[in-house]
Amino acid sequence: MPRRPVSLELGMATYIAKKHLLERKEMFPFTLMLEPLELCNLACSGCGRIQEYKDVFDKRLTVEQCLQAAEDCGAPIVNIPGGEPLIHKQIGEIVQGIIDQGRFVYLCTNGILMDRAFEKITAQKRFAFVVHIDGMESVHDQAVDRAGVFKKATAHMREAIARGYRVCTNTTIFRGTQPQEYVDLFVHLKEMGVEGCITSPGFDYASVTDQHQFLARTEAQEAA
Ligand code: SF4
Repeated sequence: MPRRPVSLELGMATYIAKKHLLERKEMFPFTLMLEPLELCNLACSGCGRIQEYKDVFDKRLTVEQCLQAAEDCGAPIVNIPGGEPLIHKQIGEIVQGIIDQGRFVYLCTNGILMDRAFEKITAQKRFAFVVHIDGMESVHDQAVDRAGVFKKATAHMREAIARGYRVCTNTTIFRGTQPQEYVDLFVHLKEMGVEGCITSPGFDYASVTDQHQFLARTEAQEAA
């Protein structure tokens, strides 16, 4: 797997030293979670966001609001989840504006619209895609409730890597999926050239009908 950029490690070390030694702060933010919109182009069965955030689907943060939020927070890393942030027409300006402030941006996406981003966001060390992939083809397509998404997302990931983008992944673990599925997936992602993989148990949104799919705390600890 490719390594995280050294500039990220150095930037974080400098930030921590500055906060502790110069500003004498004990608590300070590492990461801002910035959601420029909540709308998504998928309707995954385990996702409660798309139920709970319906009232704000028509709302967008402006470029100025996003840049101001990053400035106000001051964190060196800005994570942009959604919804699907690539739906936002000015996502390129938002990402580049935050990078120009000297921060690192991790943009979460389901991978369907990544090819649009190639025209809007430059490949650079301070930027990484984080692609939502919950398993190999059949498991992932079932998780996102749409056939063909795994093929499309992984084709875009390959293209992104070939174009010089940093690509990471985010995998949600649901009850009933066999451990070997994740072994196969992570081997596959490593061979593809993915930089890093985040995993977490599914968040048990109260609005999701099938509560059985969420791991209990003890099951999640055993899976780890
Ligand atoms: S892609 Fe993400 S935000 Fe969209 S429905 Fe699926 S889990 Fe929810």
